[in-house]
Amino acid sequence: MNQRGIGMTSARTRERLITRLRQQGIDDEAVLDRIRNVPRHLFVDEALASRAYEDTALPIGQGQTISQPFIVARMTQALLAAGPVQKVLEVGTGCGYQTAVLSPLVSQIYSVERIGSLLRKTRRLLRQLEIHNVHLRHGDGWKGWKAHAPYNGIIVTAAPREIPQPLLDQLADGGRLIIPVGPQGYQTLMAYTRRGSIVEPDDLGAVSFVPLLQGMN
Ligand code: SAH
Repeated sequence: MNQRGIGMTSARTRERLITRLRQQGIDDEAVLDRIRNVPRHLFVDEALASRAYEDTALPIGQGQTISQPFIVARMTQALLAAGPVQKVLEVGTGCGYQTAVLSPLVSQIYSVERIGSLLRKTRRLLRQLEIHNVHLRHGDGWKGWKAHAPYNGIIVTAAPREIPQPLLDQLADGGRLIIPVGPQGYQTLMAYTRRGSIVEPDDLGAVSFVPLLQGMN
């Protein structure tokens, strides 16, 4: 296992990040613990490793980004807010950081990514980190992953203009969908809770994500 960047400085830097997240309203200790312990520097290019514990998004190649720790914490906390969650669908695996943070907090994660080269790298890294409850798929997450539906939680880490209907269809009763919605520059993080045939929205504030693209290239 590559231990680059782990040392006293890094431990202090990580603690600073945790303090900052607490100040911004993250109070789920299990989530804070994951942010503290997941080695974010392994999810970014070596050249950016020294900035891995800053609360900022960073490029991961292919025009994509690793999400800001605050946003990952906020989305994870929102997903788990109503109690334990069993089966989760994630759309937009990217480098797998959100996946790694969430993995021990739920039973199973089904995660879909449309860029094959990113997914291959992520598959290797998650295996290295001994994360075994994550099932990865190269595909169009706009359509969800019907074979394993319904999901108790769905987390989307790229923003569509409008909520994809398949994701609402694949949400179990009582399940929560956490998703950024809107055009670039005007996105809102939304939490939807399914209650029978009704889906209740909750606005979690302004965010900035890469777009959720439809189809494969
Ligand atoms: N979850 C990542 C952030 C990934 S950025 C993290 O923890 O840092 C968003 C990702 O969504 C990109 O990798 C992008 O390729 C992917 N994406 C965009 N549209 C998609 C789609 N329709 N299906 C699956 N993945 C998609």
